[in-house]
Amino acid sequence: MARYTDASCRLCRREGEKLFLKGERCYTNKCSISRRPYSPGQHGQQKKKLSEYGIQLREKQKARRFYGVLEGQFNKYFEMAASKKGITGENLLQILETRLDNVICRLGLATSRPEARQLVSHAHFTVNNRKVNIPSYLLKVGDVIAVKETSRNSPKTKAVSEITGSKVIPKWLEFDADNLTGKVVALPSREDIDLPLKEHLIVELYSK
Ligand code: SF4
Repeated sequence: MARYTDASCRLCRREGEKLFLKGERCYTNKCSISRRPYSPGQHGQQKKKLSEYGIQLREKQKARRFYGVLEGQFNKYFEMAASKKGITGENLLQILETRLDNVICRLGLATSRPEARQLVSHAHFTVNNRKVNIPSYLLKVGDVIAVKETSRNSPKTKAVSEITGSKVIPKWLEFDADNLTGKVVALPSREDIDLPLKEHLIVELYSK
């Protein structure tokens, strides 16, 4: 599948928001958003007034880039969210949050979503004791995620644990640091999702 392969920091600068795509670096003063807080490119420092459509589009792109989802898949998630009961924008965020790569990142088993995606693709995790290597796998309440037995003592797993050891785990997840396992104990509500996003703008965009 096609992936975005250009510099990740350009995406944050384009959205004017930290999207935490580079792990440890994002928490240091090397973060490009702190050093160059304007859009990338020749005209990046020019102030542009966005149209209503432009504002809605930027909000969608921000969500897509934060979770590392391509356009087609994002459209499918929106359809799923719209067909569920409740508030469409919140349903959309809930679906995105329950992706396996996002949950791996939330549990501190990867330093960023792109890294979580790669680790999942390389089959380092199990869900309910079965190997799962699909980053977009949607988890349900009660699902148990674990680092695969043979990956537990790998230098990579240890290095990630050292970086993410003090990470706060959201209350809709449980984490057992000794056994490197996590559990989905509830579906995330909007207050559980610390993403500065105005999801109603995405709904308005799709309603046009
Ligand atoms: Fe974004 Fe991280 Fe790069 Fe900062 S370091 S611009 S948060 S990807």
